[in-house]
Amino acid sequence: VQEPEQFTFRAEITQLLHLLAHSLYQSREIALRELISNASDALDKMRFVALTNEAYRDAAEGLKITLEGRDDSRDLVVRDNGIGMTHDELVENLGTIARSGSLEFLKSLGEARDKADLSLIGQFGVGFYSSFMLADHVTVRTRSYRDDHGWEWRSDGTGRFEIRPIDKQDRGTEVILHLKEDVKDLTKDYRLKGVVRTYSRFIPHPITIGEEVVNDVRPIWVEPKAQVTNEQHAQFYQHLAHRADEKPLWHLHLAVDSPIQFRSVLYCPRTNLERLGFGRTEHGLNLLARRVLVQSDCRELLPDFLRFLYGLVDSEDLPLNVSRETLQDNTVIRRIRNALVKAVFDRLEKLATDDPDAFRTFGEQFGPILKEGVIADVEHRERIASLLRFASSRDESGKETTSLKDYLSRMQADQKAIYYLGGPDLSAIRKSPNLEIFRRRGVEVLFLTDPIDEFVMASLGRFDGKDLKSIDAADVDLPSPKIETPPAESGLAGFSRVLELFRSALGDRVTEVRESKRLTDAPCCLVNAAGGFSTQMQRILRQANR
Ligand code: ADP
Ligand code: MG
Repeated sequence: VQEPEQFTFRAEITQLLHLLAHSLYQSREIALRELISNASDALDKMRFVALTNEAYRDAAEGLKITLEGRDDSRDLVVRDNGIGMTHDELVENLGTIARSGSLEFLKSLGEARDKADLSLIGQFGVGFYSSFMLADHVTVRTRSYRDDHGWEWRSDGTGRFEIRPIDKQDRGTEVILHLKEDVKDLTKDYRLKGVVRTYSRFIPHPITIGEEVVNDVRPIWVEPKAQVTNEQHAQFYQHLAHRADEKPLWHLHLAVDSPIQFRSVLYCPRTNLERLGFGRTEHGLNLLARRVLVQSDCRELLPDFLRFLYGLVDSEDLPLNVSRETLQDNTVIRRIRNALVKAVFDRLEKLATDDPDAFRTFGEQFGPILKEGVIADVEHRERIASLLRFASSRDESGKETTSLKDYLSRMQADQKAIYYLGGPDLSAIRKSPNLEIFRRRGVEVLFLTDPIDEFVMASLGRFDGKDLKSIDAADVDLPSPKIETPPAESGLAGFSRVLELFRSALGDRVTEVRESKRLTDAPCCLVNAAGGFSTQMQRILRQANR
């Protein structure tokens, strides 16, 4: 027998393993979901190879996952006849490749780590390691479809692992968990069935326990829309997003026949992880061609400002062998993407009317990503902007917000622009002397308190043909007054003398001092030179440069 090769885990993985091994997290059986998900991925990859490479054609049949509990030895086996791993893949994938996800995951847990919710682990690309929540020893026996013998990986999760060659007759991978004492009942079939039904119902390959197939292999996206229940959608979402117990905020089920045939389900999470300080969301949609997974995490199917959606697209008009490189300028993909974007906009507009609470949550969570979209995505900026909501002078308490469209509908007949004013918060905005004349003339002003809002307005420039204008700009052209304010007598003796005094006192610090027609109560106000940055924007830029 050959001596096993010894390896050390990457430091961040050792740290992660320590946390997992000592976790008091309640739903530790989500580790099984992760192993089943990996098995399913390996089967998808095998099927893909079989369908695109003559030499492996037979491998497309009989793909399955098996769960087997062994009472006597307290072992739980998750077995697949998927793609398997070579020696080098084993070393890299299970221990030595840098996985930024593990650090991000640890960071996301914050304080109170021992009790933290660990169900999100799979999202960070380190799901395999969750095995150590259940097991004190893990053995992986695998044989790649390209190899003529197998390899065994073993670890007790304390910093090191070893690998040795083994005899393995069949292709695929077996993960053997030597269960900890307190979870040993997971070797029982009834427990395993429960776990699969809770967490892995929608795995698109048969999962057998004993001789019985225990999951729903029929994909929900090919069912008629009306036949899929919200409960089924929730479970499918949990499967895609590696989440437990969470319903999506909204979903979209699409069946399109022309010009391109495709079906799609899309899910919006309830929370925006980016907002909680996680890294940028990098998952994409799964892309399938006639039920076969062609690519997971495909980023080309949605524009950046919708990157938080989970889901899949299954098309009959797509060849199996689209490569990552050709996806970008693939006409089919482009058309699917256009159709998806349009459907999402329609869905969101419907959500705004049908379920204002959900729409508000959506805005709170994903508003920042949408705003980024207005700035960066020229093609969609106006449509995105119409989804945004702002406080306005219509309700100075800030409770009632408004869309740009609603603002337009209330605009005075001869009003030339959409007006806004930015500030650090509502009370600061309300105090601005620049608002006086707008209040008096009943002209609505949007109140922008999010630092990015003014950049959004500046990028947008116009909305539905109307200019967007900050009211602290010098060149604000107000609609003609309803009630005539007494004309300021410019000829009034001594007033030009006042202006002179101001000019000499302020010197270079201002571009110009001039008489104003917009003030009613306050004696003076500061405005910005035409074409310059608004006051709030200057404030933000100053802070950024500090
Ligand atoms: P992720 O699945 O997000 O990539 P995991 O930690 O769950 O992260 O798995 C790490 C990697 O190990 C996988 O990407 C895959 O390459 C490999 N792997 C894990 N389980 C299997 C399996 N059953 N068959 C083949 N490869 C596997
Ligand atoms: Mg995984």
